[in-house]
Amino acid sequence: MPRHLKWTAFSFIFLANIQLHAQGFAIGKDTAIWEEISEAEKLKASLLWLKKRALKEEIKKATIDLLKHAATYNDVYTVLRISNWDSGMMRTIPSLVPIRQAKIIKFKISSGFGYRKHPLKNNDMFHGGIDIPAPNGTPVYAVADAVVISAVKFHSSLGNFVQLNHLNGFITLYGHLLRFIVLPGQTVKQGQVIGYVGQSGWSTGPHLHYILIKNGFALDPYPFCFLMFEKFRAKEKPVYSGSSK
Ligand SMILES: [Zn+2]
Repeated sequence: MPRHLKWTAFSFIFLANIQLHAQGFAIGKDTAIWEEISEAEKLKASLLWLKKRALKEEIKKATIDLLKHAATYNDVYTVLRISNWDSGMMRTIPSLVPIRQAKIIKFKISSGFGYRKHPLKNNDMFHGGIDIPAPNGTPVYAVADAVVISAVKFHSSLGNFVQLNHLNGFITLYGHLLRFIVLPGQTVKQGQVIGYVGQSGWSTGPHLHYILIKNGFALDPYPFCFLMFEKFRAKEKPVYSGSSK
């Protein structure tokens, strides 16, 4: 909006407000009708507000219920879209890369989710997470707000590992750590450092073994790493792309 138009709009609203104020004051002074109308209007406005709030609460409840039952990445993505990428909800969903990355769009994993030949045991095994290679000592982040359910040292295969319990059926696990800096029962915030990359347990080199569980089943954590990024991408998209000229 050009500067002078902005100023005109502003002064118009300002003057109109003053006028309304003056009118209300003048009528309110000597008539009871104004009081009555005012009370009725107030009641109507507050009822409308309550109705709106109740509806909002209902929608919120239904969305949380959907999130609780979500079983796949696509389900979670859909719920987030319905909630219009609600920030409060995002904080409870694993939606970050668990370690600092130079490039957020795509990062290297040394081993993906699914069946593979185990590099040390040399037999087909289900790899229930992803391996993100990183130098020893790289900080590891909590991918969502959580309570630490376990922080275990010297596990035979996972080495030093931390397990986080998030809301709505999400659990994440961070394995082969050099060390961790959290204790069971402690609450952590999304993005908080919980430990450092290492190669403890069954590991051929320093990397983070990252597991994501939803309602008791392991899911491929890779797409979840980009949810926060997806949020900003979705927010940047205009609602109407507009017609070409
Ligand atoms: Zn692994």
